[in-house]
Amino acid sequence: MNTTPSPQAGRTALITGARRGIGFSVAERLYQDGANIVLLDIDLAETQAAASQIDPSGKRVLALTADVSDITEVRRAGDQAATHNGSSDILVNNAGISPKHDGKSATIAAMSVDEWQRVLAINLTGTFLCSQACMEIMKARSWGRIINMSSQAGRTVSTIAGAHYAASKGGVIAFSRSLAAETGAFGITVNCIAPGRIMTPMSAEAGQAANEQYLKRIPVNRLGYPDDIAATVSFLASNEAGFITGATIDVNGGSFMN
Ligand code: NAD
Repeated sequence: MNTTPSPQAGRTALITGARRGIGFSVAERLYQDGANIVLLDIDLAETQAAASQIDPSGKRVLALTADVSDITEVRRAGDQAATHNGSSDILVNNAGISPKHDGKSATIAAMSVDEWQRVLAINLTGTFLCSQACMEIMKARSWGRIINMSSQAGRTVSTIAGAHYAASKGGVIAFSRSLAAETGAFGITVNCIAPGRIMTPMSAEAGQAANEQYLKRIPVNRLGYPDDIAATVSFLASNEAGFITGATIDVNGGSFMN
């Protein structure tokens, strides 16, 4: 007999950027916690493959495509998710980009306005649009959890990420506080996670040498795993975390002690 508790049974979690990396681990973890899962990403075939990996029966998973920076696509995805299983009780704004050129971020001097705007549009505006699309249903149900993926780069000067990325991730933290204040009375909590270096396709783009340099500054002497972030999301999404809102949790192996 399976005696594993299912703290999120009957709830639905929508995770953006869920086909791989941190988003996929978060989807897997919240599925294990008992939630129905909506995986949202830009590539349908890959998002469907990720969904089937989590639940081959397809009963508790749904794969959707949307560009989180496009208001029409986000609203359509929100409607599709609601039709499928009624609601998004938990929203994890995880989709993000960190453009590199030959493994390096552009300097401010060399950064194109197009690249600046694309990073802000996906990382910051996307978080706003997806939150807006889900918050009314959460308010009506008097319960909700919104967890936004910031970054260590939004908390301190980054040696790897660009200024656009850092600005977007700092913006996510400020936006989350405003959203937390606006929705707190409705039983909704809004928190950020600021991961350090986590082993995913995104961090691999910076190359092994950059990651090895990073490792030297991490007191626990390892890079992070997507599951480290998924476990933090699982806690922030739980009933037990109901008195935590407007917070940013640093999951970085102790990097800030250096
Ligand atoms: P990743 O590149 O492996 O995954 C990001 C996912 O977002 C991809 O599946 C991608 O298709 C999706 N995505 C990109 N643009 C999108 C859009 N416009 N609409 C919908 N989906 C889109 O990256 P990751 O390392 O898993 O990062 C996940 C989140 O964690 C990001 O927000 C990232 O900034 C943040 N983060 C990562 C690290 C790290 O070291 N990996 C550190 C700090 C913060």
